[in-house]
Amino acid sequence: MKLRPAGRVVVIGSVNVDRILRCPVLPSPGETVLVTDATQGFGGKGANQAVAAARMGATTRLVAKVGADADGRAALDDLRGADVDTGAVLTDAAAPTGQAVVMVDPAGENSIVVVPGANTRLTAAEVTAALTAARLLPRDVVLTSGEVAEECIRATAAALPADGTLWLHNAAPAGPLPDTRSTGRRPLVVANALEACQLTGASTVTDAVRALADLTDGAVITLGGAGALVAADGRITELPAPAVTAVDTTGAGDVFCGALAAELARSTPLVEAAAVAVAAGAFAVTALGARGALPRPADI
Ligand code: ADP
Repeated sequence: MKLRPAGRVVVIGSVNVDRILRCPVLPSPGETVLVTDATQGFGGKGANQAVAAARMGATTRLVAKVGADADGRAALDDLRGADVDTGAVLTDAAAPTGQAVVMVDPAGENSIVVVPGANTRLTAAEVTAALTAARLLPRDVVLTSGEVAEECIRATAAALPADGTLWLHNAAPAGPLPDTRSTGRRPLVVANALEACQLTGASTVTDAVRALADLTDGAVITLGGAGALVAADGRITELPAPAVTAVDTTGAGDVFCGALAAELARSTPLVEAAAVAVAAGAFAVTALGARGALPRPADI
């Protein structure tokens, strides 16, 4: 039997360099605190999702923007090292690479300051050009999230070929669903429980998943240690997560989305693909950091 080649994953998203500062206490207004440890990591929803999809075996391209600075160069090296195609990651001298300063106290409580920087300078025209150059095929999967400007999400919807090419939108951070009335294309939406309730005004996740599915092409709500809920084709399916010892849940949703995109690009049906993503998310929480434990297919 001849195997059908898998589609590609194209992520339109953000790239950040994370500075993680361990503090004895989180500073109050006006207070100066000396950190006990300072480390650097790579993040940004788009970059995390792309790295997770590539690790799950998908041919992955990232459409994003970094600054013309050392952080941008380091982030690009990191992405290339993770087998992500960075040919569509643009450099912009007018803004710094996105940055997140994460202060963590000994109890694990954190305060985060984000400099969106070059991420906010990605334009609709650049997204259109990148997606046109990608020559999307029906089996490809395009993944967007709320960390790029709404105009970029609308440009994505408009650039999708009329037949096929699945569009996955991660509604994080929670914001209005992309207005796609002019293109007629609706995404398959992934949101965590909080985002889903904020987006729909529902007070339970079951109501939220139903409401989201009515507005979109299908909805997946992630429920942390409880797994995920999928609503598609009029049915709601519960997918429990395997029991693991959670060390750090940062970035679990990004790994979930990257793995889901990679699986859908293999033409796996939505519920089965989401079950793989649940296992991938559970794997991701077993080590410190947004990219502390990135699963390969054999780990699932
Ligand atoms: P987000 O990181 O966006 O807030 P969730 O916390 O819902 O998203 O986590 C995304 C996925 O990661 C979940 O659907 C699940 O598969 C996995 N996950 C998160 N926390 C745990 C946990 N404590 N135990 C097992 N799996 C987890």
